[in-house]
Amino acid sequence: MMRVSLAILAIGSVGAAHAGDDAAALAGIRALLAEMSEAVEAEDIGDYLSHIAPDDVAYLTEQRNWAADLRDHPVHEFELTLSDPGGLVVSEHGWAVGEVRMRWRLGEFEPRKDVRFRARFTPAGHADGVWFYAGEYWTVVRDDRHGAPCRAMAPEGLESVALQIVEVLPSVRERVDAMFGITNDREVQVKVYPTMEHLQASIYLSYEDPLGGWNEPGEAIKLLAGPSLKARNLRRLLAHEYGHVATFVLGERVDDAPWWALEGVAELAADTVAGHTSGARARMVRGWADKGALKAWDQLDDFRGEAGMYAQWVYVQGWHMLRYITERFGDGARNDWIAMLAAGEDLDIATRRALGVGFDELDTSWRGSLETNDDSGAEEPDQGENADTDTGPAQSPGDG
Ligand SMILES: [Zn+2]
Repeated sequence: MMRVSLAILAIGSVGAAHAGDDAAALAGIRALLAEMSEAVEAEDIGDYLSHIAPDDVAYLTEQRNWAADLRDHPVHEFELTLSDPGGLVVSEHGWAVGEVRMRWRLGEFEPRKDVRFRARFTPAGHADGVWFYAGEYWTVVRDDRHGAPCRAMAPEGLESVALQIVEVLPSVRERVDAMFGITNDREVQVKVYPTMEHLQASIYLSYEDPLGGWNEPGEAIKLLAGPSLKARNLRRLLAHEYGHVATFVLGERVDDAPWWALEGVAELAADTVAGHTSGARARMVRGWADKGALKAWDQLDDFRGEAGMYAQWVYVQGWHMLRYITERFGDGARNDWIAMLAAGEDLDIATRRALGVGFDELDTSWRGSLETNDDSGAEEPDQGENADTDTGPAQSPGDG
């Protein structure tokens, strides 16, 4: 199935080491996990980050964002331990792998959460017996075939999903890059999480909304995926998340852009590889318009604010507006508009500059377009063949 060789790293046994090394490693890693746990409970972000392996830039970015959330959402208790100390394996290369158990409680009366996974530890260069935490132990599949490298990472048992990702990502990238009018030759990393709890816990401890994917500037794309994920759904999920990568290429202040615009354009990107949910979603927006249930755009702005309650509108209403903009003003104008928003420009100013109308006027004409109730014509037809919608909107909220 794979036409060109891939570098498959870190598969299989991590090798044996001397028993004495194992005992010393076990003591060092236990101390590391205890110190990390204390740092989290003390909300000491600097102390926590000082225990993270510094060589993987994307992982460090993910961990910085993870730890920064403690400022807004301190946890009531947190404990990271080796769930099977006897199972810790030190590789001949010096690093170690063991199953960790992360348990935490957000508030005193909140339920305790509990996630287990295999983690990797690397010896700190600066002192004997001191270890760094390097996060999940992944099987890494790297593909350098296309001049646009990709690295897919999956836990044991989901290697097939990592292989599938490197197989489909190049064509997804090509389509989404073309839609945004960009060339992006930076490596794209994709991490596969086997459970919702694990994916949420990797984002930050207080993250509780259901999601299917995640992406933030500088981080790996994160996907929730099991072995039964259909190829079509994987393509759609990847195109959505890679759509966010494209907006990060366009501008460096995406955190200031309206959330609905970012999700709307990511959903458009998903349509470039699989448009089968378009008709149903357009009808949903018309239904909202009929019932007076559309949201005001400023209700859909802030990922961490009110918009969190209206995720479905963020994705579906946002997507509809992006499609309206595209049909009325064209791809180039839409891309200029997104680029200005991604660079931190004010919504009304960006709209005037890129589309030649004020935002209120745009909103009025968009609402007018919903009243025509034209259910035919412009709609892409649902493409029959398993019109499942489980990677549809509201599956990947969370791009602040
Ligand atoms: Zn998204």
